[in-house]
Amino acid sequence: MFSELGLIEPLLRALASEGYTAPTPIQVRAIPPLLRGRDLLGVAQTGTGKTAAFALPILQRLAEARRRPGPRAALVLVLTPTRELAIQIGDSFAAYGRHLGLKRAVVYGGVGQNPQVAALAGGSDVLVATPGRLLDLIHQRHVRLDGVQTFVLDEADRMLDMGFIRDVRAIIAELPVRRQTLLFSATMPAAVAGLAESILRDFERVEVTPSATTVERVEQRVLFVERGDKRMLLTELLKDRAVGRAIVFTRTKHGANRVAEHLEKRGVSVGAIHGNKSQSARQQALAGFRAGRVRTLVATDIAARGIDIEGITHIINFDLPNEPESYVHRIGRTARAGADGVALSMCDADEVVHLRAIEKTIRQAVPVDDAHPYHAAAIARLYSAPSAQRGPSAGPRRSPRAGGSGNGKVARHSRPGHGRRPAA
Ligand code: AMP
Repeated sequence: MFSELGLIEPLLRALASEGYTAPTPIQVRAIPPLLRGRDLLGVAQTGTGKTAAFALPILQRLAEARRRPGPRAALVLVLTPTRELAIQIGDSFAAYGRHLGLKRAVVYGGVGQNPQVAALAGGSDVLVATPGRLLDLIHQRHVRLDGVQTFVLDEADRMLDMGFIRDVRAIIAELPVRRQTLLFSATMPAAVAGLAESILRDFERVEVTPSATTVERVEQRVLFVERGDKRMLLTELLKDRAVGRAIVFTRTKHGANRVAEHLEKRGVSVGAIHGNKSQSARQQALAGFRAGRVRTLVATDIAARGIDIEGITHIINFDLPNEPESYVHRIGRTARAGADGVALSMCDADEVVHLRAIEKTIRQAVPVDDAHPYHAAAIARLYSAPSAQRGPSAGPRRSPRAGGSGNGKVARHSRPGHGRRPAA
């Protein structure tokens, strides 16, 4: 419940009219520390509800402090890499803050600056901006940042990718040293971690699993297979030239070891990371994988937590996790930084129940690939059979998350030719 997060009534009313009934995980974890004025490092991407996670506490603190911005000044600055995001964030502040009567300004390049200059002149409670235009306006003295109390750096990784780091640093230099700072990034490459270290103080770190939006970008398939055939199937799958960089997930450390040994014997270059390996052995495996010397990494969920490697083309679930969240976390690793990837999941008879839980969580059916040499028709039938737990409403819905991504994308469905069970 939003009311349990300590939000004031005008915000709760606005959320109700937005149709939000419950906070998302990042909202649950970020809103309380932000209301207390803490700094925050948010590892999260669009679609997780991160905008509301920072906009709500910011609006509340503004409403409670009742300070007025001076001419051309701003109390809150949100920096974001693109014009589309700036507009979206501005709209979110407008929607959530509709009962608070605060002043907003949104500035971005590619359009005439006069209306923006006019909007800034009287001062803004919240200023949302892209870096280049903001810096222009600062140099022309149309805006000043020395009164900023809260600074949000949104999509820091994209900011760096787009070459905005110098502009961002120049803008940060204009801010007061004493301020609340929030940094959001979908990924944590070293450059972003370094930036975070340099601008955050005593910060809270909140990391959330990739959203349904990410899941929709990943091409998913499930392969029904007898447990005893899994290793042979894995060898087959890795022969595919399309597999550039793959992570193979197993449920246990022991399983990871056995899979890695099996692959090694068949001449596949493979590294393994799991809790039983020494730190240096893990580092070595990771370094080899990052550098491209090792194409396949075998990992358990725990060992893979926090590792961030670009360019993963395939996630192979040798075992299906019994926690649906782990599935989302695993496959999200192949859809980093806008790239699309493939997630192949092996499913034996005992794992059908996990598959159903996953489909319920991601709200889509995972297309079945029955064209592989170890296809187990009996397990496919087990999966298609109606089960006691699956009432008509319990089946996976074939629509994207309701009220979810906001980007109008639809879920990817199975391709023709790949058997999928009839709709539940
Ligand atoms: P964001 O990750 O901030 O881009 O938000 C993604 C989408 O989720 C936006 O369309 C928001 O309007 C929506 N949203 C954010 N929080 C919630 C919530 N608690 N309940 C329902 N929808 C939400």
